[in-house]
Amino acid sequence: MNQGDRLVIVGGGPSGLSTARAYRETSGAGSVTILAGEDHLPYRRPPLTKEYLRGEIPRKELPIEPGSWFEENGVDLRTGTKVAALDPGQAKIETEDGEEIAYDACVLATGSEPIRIPVPGGGDPGILTMRTVENSTELQRRVANGGRVMVVGSGFIGCEVAASLSMRSAEVTLVSMEELPQADRLGEGAGEQIKGWLEDYGVELHLGVSVEEIEHTGEGYRVHIGDSEMVVAETVLFGTGARPRTVLAEKAGLAVEKGGIVCDSSMRASYGRVFAVGDVALAYNEAAGRRLYVEHWGEALNMGQVAGTIIAGGEAVWNVAPGFWSTIGEETIKYVAWGDGYDEARFVDHGGRAFTVWYGTEGVCVGVLAHDHDEDYEHGRKLIESGAALPE
Ligand SMILES: Cc1cc2nc3c(=O)[nH]c(=O)nc-3n(C[C@H](O)[C@H](O)[C@H](O)COP(=O)(O)OP(=O)(O)OC[C@H]3O[C@@H](n4cnc5c(N)ncnc54)[C@H](O)[C@@H]3O)c2cc1C
Repeated sequence: MNQGDRLVIVGGGPSGLSTARAYRETSGAGSVTILAGEDHLPYRRPPLTKEYLRGEIPRKELPIEPGSWFEENGVDLRTGTKVAALDPGQAKIETEDGEEIAYDACVLATGSEPIRIPVPGGGDPGILTMRTVENSTELQRRVANGGRVMVVGSGFIGCEVAASLSMRSAEVTLVSMEELPQADRLGEGAGEQIKGWLEDYGVELHLGVSVEEIEHTGEGYRVHIGDSEMVVAETVLFGTGARPRTVLAEKAGLAVEKGGIVCDSSMRASYGRVFAVGDVALAYNEAAGRRLYVEHWGEALNMGQVAGTIIAGGEAVWNVAPGFWSTIGEETIKYVAWGDGYDEARFVDHGGRAFTVWYGTEGVCVGVLAHDHDEDYEHGRKLIESGAALPE
């Protein structure tokens, strides 16, 4: 793009902000507009299940950048502005208020939204999900005086919320179809450790069972699980996964596969001057040699960095192995992996509480998870990106 050109970013999460930052840092001189559906400065979601939920940090510490950053960098952040349609042929978008905005490059950074499980009673509006600062604030309010909480799902959101609420003296029950927490993604070895941590925090676990029905009673909910069990709770939270918000792209005729907007390693979508970054993108990773779907904070920043650089006329490709950290109570796991499967998981006990899990496919290292053993996490990234053998 040249001076006078217009970069329009749809979505004010980390990937949208990172795009704007990289564009300016690569001397992009056109106008930059971020159309952000939420009413806030772009903010950090990871603390919503951790320090913020536990009341350890105030809301004012959540923004990624202060308001002054946008002014200083000539970025027009329009909060509370939702985009209703994208027209790649005419190179313009339309907001929900009917305003049309033309662009020379458009970046879709619309993130993902929580999935509510389709069980009888699951549509009750009082059942919480966890994506926004409002969700976390409401959960804090509900457990202000303790109380019983049912967390449905044992992915990273469910595990983090369950541990944090227990630390806040709530009585927490976690129910999951997984036999061990996060075992579907991280394997049995890691699942056993996470199960132990949750039990140590006092979380009551119902694993390998599904929620069959949720009844709203006067004071809360009766949650029917498995064949015959029933758990009573004042609050129910679904931590049952998220789906990318691809509706704008789909309606605009862009290629969408496996739930993500198909992109090349420069984050370019299939048609027009449109890019996609963050949770919504199904981008080609040069080092992996295939498209990957990831929903990690660091990758949202990395993909935005690539798109912003390219749009400003620089060179960049997405070629790092994706990774995330998750903190369950006070236990932090660091994970880096292609994330699309493995046929072998090797658990290494380092003594004390430290452990590593190495993941391999046909003997090649495709992932590593480390707890209290950062050297494996650092070293593992190099092994994964170079396609090295699984360590003995
Ligand atoms: C509670 C929680 C804790 C997490 N903890 C971790 C963690 O510890 N480690 C980790 O690696 N990852 C974590 N994640 C995941 C990480 O936060 C996401 O991967 C990251 O936020 C994705 O960034 P994004 O910019 O793609 O999307 P988002 O952060 O979802 O931002 C997208 C924004 O676009 C807006 N939007 C959507 N549609 C429109 C529209 N039509 N018009 C205008 N705006 C629109 C949305 O309102 C939203 O503000 C966590 C996620 C959650 C929810």
